[in-house]
Amino acid sequence: MTDPLANSYYAATAYPWRPRAFDGDYRCDVAVIGGGFTGLSAALACAERGFSVMLVEAETIGFGASGRNGGQLIPGLRWSASEMEAEFGRERADALFDLCWRDNRVQARIAKHGIDCDLKAGHLEAAWTPKDFAAMHREAEFLDSRFGYPTRIIERADMDAHIASPLYHGGVYDAHAGHFHPLNYAIGLARAAEAAGVVILEGRRADLILDGNPGELFIGDATIAARYIINAADSWIGDVDPDLGRYTVPIMNYNIATAPLVSADALLPSDAAVADSRFVLNYFRLSADRRLIFGGGERYSQTPPRDIAAFVRPFMAEVFPQIADTPIDYGWGGAVAVTMNRLPHIGRRGNVFFAHGFSGHGALVTTLSGELVADALAGTAERFDVFAALPSSPFPGGKWLRRPLATLGLLWYALKDRIG
Ligand SMILES: Cc1cc2nc3c(=O)[nH]c(=O)nc-3n(C[C@H](O)[C@H](O)[C@H](O)COP(=O)(O)OP(=O)(O)OC[C@H]3O[C@@H](n4cnc5c(N)ncnc54)[C@H](O)[C@@H]3O)c2cc1C
Repeated sequence: MTDPLANSYYAATAYPWRPRAFDGDYRCDVAVIGGGFTGLSAALACAERGFSVMLVEAETIGFGASGRNGGQLIPGLRWSASEMEAEFGRERADALFDLCWRDNRVQARIAKHGIDCDLKAGHLEAAWTPKDFAAMHREAEFLDSRFGYPTRIIERADMDAHIASPLYHGGVYDAHAGHFHPLNYAIGLARAAEAAGVVILEGRRADLILDGNPGELFIGDATIAARYIINAADSWIGDVDPDLGRYTVPIMNYNIATAPLVSADALLPSDAAVADSRFVLNYFRLSADRRLIFGGGERYSQTPPRDIAAFVRPFMAEVFPQIADTPIDYGWGGAVAVTMNRLPHIGRRGNVFFAHGFSGHGALVTTLSGELVADALAGTAERFDVFAALPSSPFPGGKWLRRPLATLGLLWYALKDRIG
């Protein structure tokens, strides 16, 4: 994978990291594909449960979505809690709520391993339309009355305590959510995994899995023999397992980081991360060194815009006209693996486990998913099964038509956004 998108604020401010040299046997209990949050968390959790573990990453730790995302730690999945209850019933909604809202495994990992990744509390969901605000209001009341999960409803007149933009019709503030430096979190997980005994091989691409006992994972000129294999290659999962590749399409999404802003505290006075309610959403937050990190604008072509700053700037200028011309130091992007129903696809086939397709809502729940896979592999599958039972279906259209068909669907929703 060449990376024309490497001009990232995160890469520029990452802690130094290099895996330990390895010249041992390619044999272990568990082989993990992918050094993003999912793979790293699974590898670490497996090592903690006493397994010998090898993790292969085709590029470097955090190369995928995990090292380039908006850093917004938002509880839940892409479906609201009330949507889940309506679809799955009370009991399953309870189980999903316990996992996705209450069990913040990212905070637990950061605390346990002392990971320095600029973690901050607070997230604001901002309503693009009055109708969106009414829906948010209802959902906040549902979360409180049904699950005892308090959030704060912010009326339009009070929005300036959080955001200096006239665009929004109100919002919901969640003190349990937050934001962080995702690449430094991934590096922190990698260090913790190595300390727990995981062998990490960077620059090694998995080509093929042969399930069996032991299974075999082909990585170029070597083969790893492993009792279990965990496929956490997310947007690239189809390169290793074409059947799993049918369940997601990669959608490119772009971020910029401005130069440090004197007016940073005035722009986002409560220092919360913000995501708005547009279908192609704007999401933004302040970095530790007071830059605005702003994500906006999806592209359904895989080719990145020639000038990412110029592509994202108009979205930022619409929200914050007061900094429309501010210098932009970094512009980067990454692939979001999206499933048909926007719920992650997690499961087991023989001795191969997989977790992918978090659909732009993975910063928090990927760490949990990795741990659930480790639990299942160690023989306790109760919580893993809650995720594995989520409905999933492949995109229609076969190898060549899948992406164009999915793109048409997404364009339709983006158009609805524009016409209100
Ligand atoms: C621009 C952007 C912004 C986002 N913003 C947010 C946000 O603010 N909040 C949020 O919750 N979510 C966000 N997301 C989504 C979130 O980042 C992802 O859901 C999450 O990081 C997925 O983690 P992962 O470990 O499953 O996959 P990845 O991080 O993509 O990791 C997969 C890894 O596998 C490696 N790999 C691929 N193929 C192979 C192979 N054959 N052999 C070996 N290694 C391989 C890749 O190099 C990669 O490092 C965003 C995503 C993007 C792209």
